[in-house]
Amino acid sequence: MGERGPGGLARRNALGEGRLGVCILGCTGSIGRQALDVCRQHADKLKVVALAAGSDARGLVRISREFGVTDLALAHGERATGDALSGLPQGTRLAYGEGAVEDLTLLPDVDAVIVAIVGAAAIGPTLAALKAGKRVALANKECLVAAGSLVVGAAGPGQILPVDSEHSAIFQCLQGEPEGALSRIWLTCSGGPFRGFDRERLSGVTPDEALAHPTWSMGPKITVDSATLMNKGLEVIEATWLFDADVSQVTVLVHPQSAIHSMVEFSDGSVKAQLGPQDMRIPIQYALSHPKRWGAPAESVDWRAQGPLEFSAPDLETFRCLGLAIEACRVGGTLPCAMNAANEVANLAFREGRIRLTDIDVVIEAVMDATAPETVSDLDHVLAVDERARRQAAVCVSKLRA
Ligand code: NAD
Ligand code: MG
Repeated sequence: MGERGPGGLARRNALGEGRLGVCILGCTGSIGRQALDVCRQHADKLKVVALAAGSDARGLVRISREFGVTDLALAHGERATGDALSGLPQGTRLAYGEGAVEDLTLLPDVDAVIVAIVGAAAIGPTLAALKAGKRVALANKECLVAAGSLVVGAAGPGQILPVDSEHSAIFQCLQGEPEGALSRIWLTCSGGPFRGFDRERLSGVTPDEALAHPTWSMGPKITVDSATLMNKGLEVIEATWLFDADVSQVTVLVHPQSAIHSMVEFSDGSVKAQLGPQDMRIPIQYALSHPKRWGAPAESVDWRAQGPLEFSAPDLETFRCLGLAIEACRVGGTLPCAMNAANEVANLAFREGRIRLTDIDVVIEAVMDATAPETVSDLDHVLAVDERARRQAAVCVSKLRA
């Protein structure tokens, strides 16, 4: 492991060759592929040394061949055989199961772990990477929603670098500012593809319509979360943990142009905003380059051609998921964990055509109502709450179908 500098980050990296050793968890997904792009562009600074995916063995093998990576893990699915494994680099170690994903983060060559896994499945690997003292470039938000106190509690100062574009923007606005100066976070939100819809129109949206997001190409789960505004609700909770803010200090601001990635208001009334191209490679890269800045991974914006920027409040009556998430955050304890688990179950049920888009918040509310919030004690506690909420949500989904 590299020598520890201020903030628990490696000053001299583990490879001892001037490059940062990078482990990408969720390398076959939307964020994972964009992280690989950053590694291609900055091959003089970054070396991919370990890769994990969920169940896509072929995708994992293809990427490991391109980057010559020999430490691999597959969380689920059948053991890959024959064709799927042909052409693996000499000496490759491919391990299976969620434990194998966590083990990758411990490898001595790994300086930075990019957590691009979807869902609460990222809790274990994130905690493992933090405990091993690695820099954690965190794209996954569900682990902070479900287990924020454990994740933040395991992190040294500056050890978690946010990848979510809004949180990277807030983090950038806070650079050089004194502690305690933050008074409010303006968390921007495009409004999703169904902005302006009423409840009835929203209930008729099909999975195909919800999965065709107009501006961002993301994984299917977050695309549906963006359509219900649950994504913004998860991001409110994420912001409270990352920036030690109270939920009352986070205000969601609908901004359809998505030019401003978020803003921070300070105690003296001054407001800083971060703007830039809508390209996730920028926040991914910054989470690896911080406190430095490297060459741009995306085309710059000609602001003369940008046109007007609009701002408004979100419609909480139509997009009830956002209000439920804010309520879960306000109550705290295990309630956000139960809410997140219910959302994961309902989101999938909608994508599989089993419930309507507007049923998602019905399922979440039912599970929240059935949850007696408790103070989070440890990981086993979180996992038990998550599992119980998933069971309750599944029952609720089957009742809605009938
Ligand atoms: P995705 O579905 O495209 O990719 C998910 C990846 O995780 C895949 O590689 C999958 O194989 C892998 N995976 C699933 N379970 C795993 C496990 N147990 N262990 C290891 N790998 C596993 O999702 P995405 O859009 O890339 O989003 C990933 C995370 O980043 C989510 O938490 C999302 O909210 C967050 N995020 C995404 C974007 C975006 O633009 N896509 C932006 C901000 C934040
Ligand atoms: Mg975001």
